[in-house]
Amino acid sequence: MKIYIITDLEGVAGVVNWDSHQERATEWMTAEIQAAVDGARSGGAEEIIVAESHKVIIDKLDKDVKLVLSGGVASYLPGLDESVDGVFIVGQHARAGVGTGVLNHTGNSAVFNTYLNGIAVGELGFEMAYAGSKGVPVVLLTGDTEATQEAKVLVDNMETVAVKEGINKYQTISLHPRRACELIREGAKRAVERINEIKPFTLEAPYDYKVEFTTTQTVSKMCLIPGVRKVDERSITYTSDNFQEIANMNLLRAYLYDAE
Ligand SMILES: [Zn+2]
Repeated sequence: MKIYIITDLEGVAGVVNWDSHQERATEWMTAEIQAAVDGARSGGAEEIIVAESHKVIIDKLDKDVKLVLSGGVASYLPGLDESVDGVFIVGQHARAGVGTGVLNHTGNSAVFNTYLNGIAVGELGFEMAYAGSKGVPVVLLTGDTEATQEAKVLVDNMETVAVKEGINKYQTISLHPRRACELIREGAKRAVERINEIKPFTLEAPYDYKVEFTTTQTVSKMCLIPGVRKVDERSITYTSDNFQEIANMNLLRAYLYDAE
């Protein structure tokens, strides 16, 4: 059995802003990833791939994991393909605009909302749809309570572990990092054991990707790309029968970031 772990920082226990505790935050994130690895192994996973982000401390991870490393990004979630049996999303945050979501955002500050086929999705929803386009279920998501709720709206019987509850964007009541790791280990084991019960999140083609930006300038840049249509001064849409093209457009959207 092969498990692919997508990692993020903002939904990790103990993390409440982007500035302070950075060194400890990456240690806590790495510990949560390792807890997910341990749980997956005890549930029966043989091959585990960790997609690195936010400076995971590689030396503190199990030596038998494989790492997806990105010195620069020109491919969305490399190695997440039809050979993967299940995906974990660890340390995830809620989408932009969820007021009680700790550090809620979608990609970067130029994005107000993103939609797939009319469904509001943040980073986790997009990741679930991408895995789903390969026929792969996301079986576990860990993060703040708001992120776990966002995931459950898309696939209601997936395993989730809430490690902190948001009060607002920069305040939370968090579990202690070590307790969070215990729960993640248990959740990961359950997710692997239940892998056949949990369905992929799939959308019907043609896929429509709509982005509402916070500024007009990113819209102007996006409209340079053939096939991108302007909806209004702040919004664009792009449609394709091939979800890989939607994922590629999502990466380009990050490159064309313009906060002004
Ligand atoms: Zn993120």
